[in-house]
Amino acid sequence: MTHAHAAICRGHDAPFAIEPVELAALQPDELRIRIVACGICHTDLAVRDGQLPVELPAVLGHEGAGIVEEVGSAVTAAKPGDRVVMSFNSCGECPSCDADAPTYCYNFFPHNWSGRRADGSPTIMREGEPVGGNFFGQSSFATHAIAHQRNVVRVPDAAADLPLERLAPIGCGLMTGAGAVLRSMKVREGLPIVVFGAGTVGMAAIMAAKVAGADPIIAVDMHDSRLATARELGATHAFNAKDGAIDKIKQLCPRGVGYVFDTTGVKSVIEDGFDLLAPKGVMGIVGASDPADMLSLNEAAFMGSGRTVMGILGGDSDIAPFLTELIELHLAGRFPYETLIETFDFADIDKAIEASESGRVVKPVLVMPAD
Ligand SMILES: [Zn+2]
Ligand SMILES: [Zn+2]
Repeated sequence: MTHAHAAICRGHDAPFAIEPVELAALQPDELRIRIVACGICHTDLAVRDGQLPVELPAVLGHEGAGIVEEVGSAVTAAKPGDRVVMSFNSCGECPSCDADAPTYCYNFFPHNWSGRRADGSPTIMREGEPVGGNFFGQSSFATHAIAHQRNVVRVPDAAADLPLERLAPIGCGLMTGAGAVLRSMKVREGLPIVVFGAGTVGMAAIMAAKVAGADPIIAVDMHDSRLATARELGATHAFNAKDGAIDKIKQLCPRGVGYVFDTTGVKSVIEDGFDLLAPKGVMGIVGASDPADMLSLNEAAFMGSGRTVMGILGGDSDIAPFLTELIELHLAGRFPYETLIETFDFADIDKAIEASESGRVVKPVLVMPAD
C-alpha cells in the first residue's frame, strides 16, 4: 500500500474533494507514478455529469505526467526515475491491439472505465473501501497513480528540458486532433481542410494540418477569441459559425474541400460538412454527439464522388511512437500548443474546471504539490 492524495469525484453537484487514499501493491505489468501534472479534459467532466458509463465516486484524470517510482517485474516501458506521460490503456491481445490500433481495443471498457483493473481488483482504497480507480488506466487527479506497461510513454531525452506540465495533455485531445489529420485522414499537401470546433482537439488538428501542408486551413467556431488563437496556430481563414461560415467556405473553395474534420458532434454541422467535400473528400468525426442522432447523407453524392466518412477514436494513435513524434514536433516549434495551457495548483481543481467550462482556458493543467 502507498499513501497518496486524490481528488474524489462524487458527481455534478459536489466539488472535487482532495482526500487521503491508498494505492494497491503493483502487479507485474504496472508502474507507480508520482504525478507532477495532469490536464483536465471534457471527458472528465462528462463522467462527472453521468454521461459516460463510469461509476462514481471515482478518481478521474487521464492526462497525467510524472516520475516513475516503482515498476512491476514485467515492465520494460520505463524504469524508476524516468519521466513519463500517460495515455489510454488497452488489452494488448485483441484484433485491434494486434493491428497497432489500440484506440479501438475490443476490451477498452474493462481496461479504462470499469473503475477496477481488468481482473476486477481495485487499485485505490479510501478508508479501507475500494473507490473507482484505473480511469484510462491511470486516475491521475492524484499525487500518485498506478499505470500500465501499455499506457506509459517515456519522455525522450531530447525533451529533458520540457516541464511535465507542458507534456501532460499530449496523450489525449492533442493526440486525437493531430492523429486524426496525420494518421486517420492522412491529409495531403495542398488540399483544403475545414475544422469545425476550435477546442483542444480542433486546435491540434489545425497545427497538424499545417505540418501536413494543407491549404487553405479553415477554422470554424462560435467564439472569436478561439478563432484568433486558431489563426495564430496555423489556420489561414477563420469564420464564425454564426456568420455565414458555410457560404464563405463555398466561395473560398468552389471545387470543394479535401477534408472536413468535425469536433462538435452536432448533426447539422456534420451534414453541412459532408456537402462541402470535393471528389475523394474525407470527413473525420470525433465529436461527442447526442446518442439518438442519426446522420442523413445523400447516397449519390457519397458514392458518386468517392467520399469517405470516418469515425475516429484517439487519432488512431499507436501511443508510444506517435506521442514521441508529437513531442519532437513540439520541440521543433511545429506543434506549438503551449499557448493553450494555463496551470492551476491541484488544490484549485474546481477553479480549473470552471475555467474550462466557461471557455476562458482551452487546456487547464493541474500541478501537484512537490512534497
Ligand atoms: Zn481526454
Ligand atoms: Zn485490445
